[in-house]
Amino acid sequence: MQYYEDILKRNNLKATQQRMQILKIIDRFGHISIETLIAHLKDMHSTVSLNTIYVNLEALKKENIITELAIQNKKKHFEITKDKHIHLICNKCDSILDKFIDEKFFNIVENEINNTGFKPTRKDLSVYGLCESCK
Ligand SMILES: [Zn+2]
Ligand SMILES: [Zn+2]
Repeated sequence: MQYYEDILKRNNLKATQQRMQILKIIDRFGHISIETLIAHLKDMHSTVSLNTIYVNLEALKKENIITELAIQNKKKHFEITKDKHIHLICNKCDSILDKFIDEKFFNIVENEINNTGFKPTRKDLSVYGLCESCK
């Protein structure tokens, strides 16, 4: 838990028990849907309000401690913010794999987008298909 406490304090967020639990659960799953996250938090303390959970998630997102994933046709997912990577998403078992690619790749994509004059509000690169065990 000390690890999560340090991350929160470094970002000037109070290390409340719920924030630390949110980080711990997301970290354990790698990528987690909002429903699964809420179900786990409710298991831990049944009285927690949905509103508090959403407020905490927004605060963690704003400080870039967690990242919200944009997955086609799926509910909100979160992950702990990592180096830039793309997502390999399985259409069959819904698994999400992180694929880290050379930083240069992202620079090229960003430059190309900037050249069009388009202003991205969220960047998330995903590839859909079948994972190793489903194909
Ligand atoms: Zn699969
Ligand atoms: Zn990821």
